[in-house]
Amino acid sequence: MTLALRGGMVWDGLGDGPREATVVIDGDRIAAIGPDSGAPDSVDVSGLTVIPGLIEGHAHLCFNAATDWRAVYDSDSAPRMLLRMAAAGRSMLEAGITTVRDLGAPTALSIEMREAFATGLALGPRLLVSGAPITTTGGHCWFMGGEADSEVEVRREVRKRVKAGCDWIKVMATGGNMTRGTNTFEAQFTVDELRACVAEAHRLNRKVAAHAHGSAGIAVAVEAGVDMLEHCTFDTPDHGIVADPAVVAGIARKGIVVSPTVSIGYRAWRSDGRKSQRAAALREMVAAGCPMLMSTDCGIPGVPHDALAGGMEVLSEYAKIPPIDVLKLATSTAAQRLGLPDRGVLAEGRLADVLVVEGDPTRDLAALGRVRMVFKGGLRVR
Ligand SMILES: [Zn+2]
Repeated sequence: MTLALRGGMVWDGLGDGPREATVVIDGDRIAAIGPDSGAPDSVDVSGLTVIPGLIEGHAHLCFNAATDWRAVYDSDSAPRMLLRMAAAGRSMLEAGITTVRDLGAPTALSIEMREAFATGLALGPRLLVSGAPITTTGGHCWFMGGEADSEVEVRREVRKRVKAGCDWIKVMATGGNMTRGTNTFEAQFTVDELRACVAEAHRLNRKVAAHAHGSAGIAVAVEAGVDMLEHCTFDTPDHGIVADPAVVAGIARKGIVVSPTVSIGYRAWRSDGRKSQRAAALREMVAAGCPMLMSTDCGIPGVPHDALAGGMEVLSEYAKIPPIDVLKLATSTAAQRLGLPDRGVLAEGRLADVLVVEGDPTRDLAALGRVRMVFKGGLRVR
């Protein structure tokens, strides 16, 4: 079936702004972008802007985004958690987020959810999943079921995830604020343990995303050669944030992608000092040339699943990145850095994952809050 989005402005994910064009969709792909082709079924998008569907780099569909998250997580039966994940995914798709990387949930549920969204059994975005993060005994998010304490055990956990069908390997390089009894400032694994994780993942054609907060843990992950750093907050024990220039230089030199998990949750931070320190650390990473993508860690308390656009505004503000470049971090650049050449750009042959908004989001990210239509694989889902 052919469909034409006619009469609006189109930003393809790469250019320096929207231009007048018609987007022709054939089946689940973009057939053409350009002058009117006279396709039989047309959708009037005049006065609106057509852009690629958004990509969320770091989500937890299984969390409820509220302060009682752990009690809810612990009391959920598996079927109920799957329903919770389905609802979260649907809210994301309706907000124009057509691809989501879930970086932590029970492995089997993540795979079921991905397949249910892929086959249309449930309405939701395209998922990339890590399953349960690999962590130390009692380490960050141990309750998801991924404890491992040696090179051998880490290798086995990687193999189990690949066997189950996970797309990414997530490893906890430091403790986390959401898991009592862990240490966010020190490394959870040795360099050799993380090297084993990376080697085994790469052997099996998977990439490694390492959760890391404090400098010591970030440094170990960089040394081990992980592919991506989640959060990368450079937290210090006195509640400050101080980027270590040598570590930042190492990230840039190795081309490790930083997934900064910046969200509307930052708006609730009470300390202005911490806000300005985080802003400075983000700017230092940008200035050093660290590659990035957009991510929010949605699902954690205070960060609803569909709040990607708000997080993009915060990133633009904190890191002083122009709106159009933040938009690339959530579309074309995200697709490239996640290894997804079939999306993130509106061009002939790419997936017809399309978002239609009111206003020009390349100049004003608030336009992303005015969603008018969403297409996933050519199918109108909103
Ligand atoms: Zn997370």
